[in-house]
Amino acid sequence: MSEANIIDGKAFAAGLRERVGKAVTRLKADHGLTPGLAVVLVGENPASEVYVRNKARQTAEAGMQSFEHKLSLETTQAELLALVDKLNKDPAVHGILVQLPLPDQIAEQAVIDALDPAKDVDGFHVINVGRLSTGTTGANAPMVPCTPLGCIMLLKDRLGNLSGLNAVVIGRSNIVGKPMAQLLIKESCTVTIAHSRTRDLPAVARGADILIAAVGRPQMIKADWIKPGAAVIDVGINRVAGEGGKSRIVGDVDTAGAKAVAGAITPVPGGVGPMTIACLLANTVTAACRQAGIEPPDL
Ligand code: NAD
Repeated sequence: MSEANIIDGKAFAAGLRERVGKAVTRLKADHGLTPGLAVVLVGENPASEVYVRNKARQTAEAGMQSFEHKLSLETTQAELLALVDKLNKDPAVHGILVQLPLPDQIAEQAVIDALDPAKDVDGFHVINVGRLSTGTTGANAPMVPCTPLGCIMLLKDRLGNLSGLNAVVIGRSNIVGKPMAQLLIKESCTVTIAHSRTRDLPAVARGADILIAAVGRPQMIKADWIKPGAAVIDVGINRVAGEGGKSRIVGDVDTAGAKAVAGAITPVPGGVGPMTIACLLANTVTAACRQAGIEPPDL
């Protein structure tokens, strides 16, 4: 990516993974602490399998311990909860990630509720959601969901101080939209959350100095929805038909048009996507430090 206004998430994520690796080396040398991440996959969803494989590889590359648990599609909720309980109690495991979606016989909320909030590196447990919304800091600071954490890191790296800027988040999911809005409030932005029922969405979007697209609709956001000079963060990952019968991945933003108007924009792929796993590794280091009573490194 050579254009000046393209935000290179791939390069930023590589730098973050390197900082995580160095922090892990120091934790081992100074405290005899090796952070460990357990990833649980239920069933055989091809997309989830790719994510889980990448997570395990990058965890090991950062010098951390990776524990993979692949369970059959027929796994009962009781069996999964028993595994979560075991991982909660395992001192070698500092972070637990249960890959979503789960098969129909398992209630996702029951599994999230069962996680030890201190090991909830996805930041989905209600304790972490509450701590994020109340702005808790220090030893009880929340684990922050990885994708919005990655977005805020890219924004601060590009824009510096976000204070006073108008931010519009399109999407209100618990995984992306809502935590994203909380993080932007924490940075003193004026935040609007737009969603499927928002009236005149293009006009709302045009008010944004920071526009976050987390919708899941291929290239819905067009160039004329964007305020000239705005920073655009495209969280969308949409598979569409490509040339020669192959499929390709596009974001929620029509990047080709939008990059002529935006001051800065994340590409898809190579923008927010690589940040998510890098932030998962960073969260695992943070979780391990807090559990060991050590001040987490500034990553
Ligand atoms: P979701 O389906 O849970 O939420 C989508 C949101 O978009 C909803 O709140 C809905 O109100 C809103 N929406 C839907 N249609 C709309 C419309 N026409 N106009 C305005 N708003 C509309 O999805 P999610 O989990 O938040 O994910 C959003 C996108 O981000 C998806 O493409 C997903 O694949 C992607 N994603 C990427 C990463 C990553 O690592 N880059 C991580 C998580 C999700």
